[in-house]
Amino acid sequence: MAQVTALSILKLAGKISIITGGASGIGEATARLFATNGAFIVLADIQDELGQKVAESIGSQHCTYIHCDISNENDVISVINFTVKTYGRLNIMFSNAGIISTSNQTVLDLDLAQFDKLFAINARGTVACVKHAARAMVEHNIRGVIICTTSVGASKGASTRTDYAMSKHPVLGLVRSASKQLGVYGIRVNCVSPSFVVTPLLNRYEETKKRKKRVEDVAQAVVFLASDASSFITGHDLVVDGGLTKLPDADD
Ligand code: NAD
Repeated sequence: MAQVTALSILKLAGKISIITGGASGIGEATARLFATNGAFIVLADIQDELGQKVAESIGSQHCTYIHCDISNENDVISVINFTVKTYGRLNIMFSNAGIISTSNQTVLDLDLAQFDKLFAINARGTVACVKHAARAMVEHNIRGVIICTTSVGASKGASTRTDYAMSKHPVLGLVRSASKQLGVYGIRVNCVSPSFVVTPLLNRYEETKKRKKRVEDVAQAVVFLASDASSFITGHDLVVDGGLTKLPDADD
């Protein structure tokens, strides 16, 4: 019994991880929970001051911050090279960074410039993170774990923010394809699909106040997918929505 307790407390002991979008919201909460579970985290974000503050508050024995704009493939390569060179390996990639539409749009009034921006970060940026994390794991013979953040809007569709829901949909295709291709290397690939969680990303929306959920709920799901507790799970989209999408008026 004592052994079970110790294992459950240190689920990620000794694991080297990268969390993109780690300066805020779901990424920050996950970084804190990873540290509590014994992992080392390379926190990657574009908000340098905030990211450094978060890393300092987690503590240098568990966390370091590095600038990385995931829409720039060279930044992604740099953060992965830095991690492998400094810590010897990459065990876990949590590709979580993302942005939301700045306005609600149906398909009738889609802003294609905003569409391109969302795809550059949410879709293409996530692909770059998964691609280069997987290459580092394969190259160093690491049976690693890759987790992406998508959204319930990706699988359910959205009645507004069409571009956002669309930009998260490729992540599902990526996770399903990569899990098929990387299983042979012992690498698992899954995603989490949160619904509304109160973070700076969504604070501006009134509805989030009504449907308040905690970032920790998503972080716990990510720890589960990152740990050996989920060692038989790959290619899965773990919906973390407290049942919201099961309601009759369900949206993203
Ligand atoms: P957040 O705004 O608190 O955090 C997102 C982080 O990503 C920020 O720190 C931001 O600086 C960073 N980021 C943005 N663009 C980046 C880039 N190009 N390169 C690197 N970092 C970048 O928001 P959050 O709610 O924690 O969002 C995390 C993820 O969860 C996102 O992918 C988001 O789409 C997804 N999501 C959030 C919700 C929600 O309700 N909050 C719901 C579904 C999905």
